[in-house]
Amino acid sequence: MRALVTGGAGFIGSRFVRDLLAEGARVTVLDRLTYAGNLANLEGCDRHTFVRGDIADPHLLASVLPGHDVVVNFAAETHVDRSIADPTAFLRTNVLGVQTLLDAARAAGVTTFVQISTDEVYGSIERGSWPETDPLRPNSPYAAAKAGADLLCLAYHRTYGMDVRITRCSNNYGPRQHPEKLIPHFVTRLLTGRTVPLYGDGGNVRDWLHVADHCRGVRAVLAKGSPGEVYNIGGGTELTNVEMTRLLLDACGADWSRVERVPDRPGHDRRYAVDYTKIQSLGYAPEVAFTEGLAATVAWYRDHPRWWAETPTAAPPGS
Ligand code: NAD
Repeated sequence: MRALVTGGAGFIGSRFVRDLLAEGARVTVLDRLTYAGNLANLEGCDRHTFVRGDIADPHLLASVLPGHDVVVNFAAETHVDRSIADPTAFLRTNVLGVQTLLDAARAAGVTTFVQISTDEVYGSIERGSWPETDPLRPNSPYAAAKAGADLLCLAYHRTYGMDVRITRCSNNYGPRQHPEKLIPHFVTRLLTGRTVPLYGDGGNVRDWLHVADHCRGVRAVLAKGSPGEVYNIGGGTELTNVEMTRLLLDACGADWSRVERVPDRPGHDRRYAVDYTKIQSLGYAPEVAFTEGLAATVAWYRDHPRWWAETPTAAPPGS
């Protein structure tokens, strides 16, 4: 298999590249290296080809894509707070970029295209969980742009018969996540003696999925999924932000006095919960026990201060 992994210098994409290389695949990484992309994430990944470039650049794609059987698209603008401050880049990469990539993949005769989406496209759910057939009700510009890409992918399957598959995962955690996101943001602040900002009443609920399990799910979809199908990928550990904050304070030897309440994010989804029964028929089940996965994640940030000290950050506060 020869795979093009877009966004492969980011948090999840770089883990996926490691896994594909370990399976013996030939891998090209295409990444624009925005503030969120980091070549250090690919350190130790020999045998891949790296191309710095934009998924919204049709000329570059026309030269890079031929010869690849598979495209797995992780490239996206990913931080909800930034999408609230300015949605422009989100529409450009997450919608127009995906359309450009789909067109280039079709022209190059790529066999399978996997679009990495998010549970945020479903909106917010008070009780129960969403199956893949639930309607999309995105609430943030980030989620709306991701939902637009999902619909485009399904339209390319129906209109052109492309083998496009979509995965929608819950909140990932693990090593190499940009310090603007909740767990690394809190851990790196706690480890440097600072306070952590907790949105609103802290009652928002998220399902946590280790990045290794997420990538295992994506590989299952690539190997055994069906064209035109959507697969939810969940981790099975639901926590409120208050509960997560307590775990991180404990792991970093800090107490509640380090928590600073901040006004809630506008349009903040209360709860996400995916029903991931469907992907279990492909052999997927989360394998990383949450307690161990979280402890190892905190240890990774503790052991890699240079990685996060050198990571570019930008405007809005992390969440
Ligand atoms: P990330 O922000 O860590 O990485 C994104 C990568 O995409 C970066 O390397 C960046 O340089 C690259 N990129 C951005 N714009 C690009 C462009 N126009 N062309 C080429 N490369 C570009 O993100 P992540 O957390 O690794 O997320 C990967 C995917 O998973 C995204 O599509 C995201 O929507 C989805 N997702 C993430 C989570 C999560 O918890 N992290 C949850 C659900 C879904």
